[in-house]
Amino acid sequence: MDNIDLEGSRREVLQKFIQVFESPFTVDDKDFNVSMSMGISRYPLHGQSIETLNQHADTAMYEAKLAGKNTFRIYCEAMSLNVISRMEMEIDLKAAVQFQQFELYYQPQLCLKTHKVVGFEALIRWNHPTKGLVAPDDFIPLSEELRFIIPMGLWVLKQACADLKILQETMGYDGYIAVNVSGIQLEDSDFISQVQKVIESAEVSPKKIELEVTESVIISDPKGSIARLNILRGMEFNIALDDFGTGYSSLSDLKKLPVNKLKIDKSFVDDLPDGEDDQAISTAIISLAKAMKMSTIAEGIETEAQMTYLAQNGCRYGQGYWFSKPKPLAEIMDWLSSRI
Ligand code: C2E
Ligand code: CA
Ligand code: CA
Repeated sequence: MDNIDLEGSRREVLQKFIQVFESPFTVDDKDFNVSMSMGISRYPLHGQSIETLNQHADTAMYEAKLAGKNTFRIYCEAMSLNVISRMEMEIDLKAAVQFQQFELYYQPQLCLKTHKVVGFEALIRWNHPTKGLVAPDDFIPLSEELRFIIPMGLWVLKQACADLKILQETMGYDGYIAVNVSGIQLEDSDFISQVQKVIESAEVSPKKIELEVTESVIISDPKGSIARLNILRGMEFNIALDDFGTGYSSLSDLKKLPVNKLKIDKSFVDDLPDGEDDQAISTAIISLAKAMKMSTIAEGIETEAQMTYLAQNGCRYGQGYWFSKPKPLAEIMDWLSSRI
């Protein structure tokens, strides 16, 4: 965590600070939960002037926030490098839109019984001018933090609609395209009206678009997200709950969700067919979905044995390298035409 060994007594003082903020503060009979993050820089090791020490303490506080709040971090040089690379990335991200460096890859989703393609998940890639192809895990978290995910997500939806039209018109494709929607987008007050505009100008039926929303979104704001998802469902979009099983959403919230599909996370498919934990979790999700009249799709299927296990245990749909890796549109069209 830090390059300085704080003496035990100082560490104890810091822990006491944190403990004070762990219980809620009561004002006018109302409880307020306050989280705290501390950043520490030390004179003379981290700077000679108040400005530099303040700046470094601020950088360290930022790292404490990133570490999940209610903690402290002591400044070290690597943190400044981190700040610089984040700033560079922020500048690059803005240029990426202007220079059209984003691209959508598509991964097929199939019926596990018939092996018919039912949909494609759109997965964003960044063709960076010097770093090459950058995976979403390396730029989505920062894009969310900067709220840049809002225009980026809208671009994804527009592009997915345009690509869907190409698939429909050139290949007679009658399936859907699934688009990932970040919690930051869903919380944005303009999201629904912007989605409506995109879908209208693209002349695509919302029935052919599936919105993948992660389970964590529902946990962080159950009321708000249920209300917004209800509107989207009313507009006839299909909704899938992504990364299902990785959070702890309450059954009562789940019951109220206008969701068509639960997506079993790859982490519960990895040890199938023999791992007992993954057997228990995947079959429990399938039964839960059935009880709530939702269907299930498993992601990250890499072997025939995983696919067979899931199909035999009632999982309706699947996606993974066993069928195809995500590919650019032109390659996915070749893949699709070789199956027809
Ligand atoms: P996700 O939505 O859970 O997507 C599934 C990820 O698993 C994808 O990684 C996919 O390429 C990968 N995957 C699929 N099948 C297999 C398999 O058989 N084996 C292995 N090892 N991996 C498999 P990818 O494309 O790197 O995307 C990572 C995450 O980035 C996605 O996770 C999603 O949360 C996010 N993401 C991607 N595109 C978008 C987007 O347009 N908008 C938003 N908000 N998030 C996106
Ligand atoms: Ca997804
Ligand atoms: Ca996942």
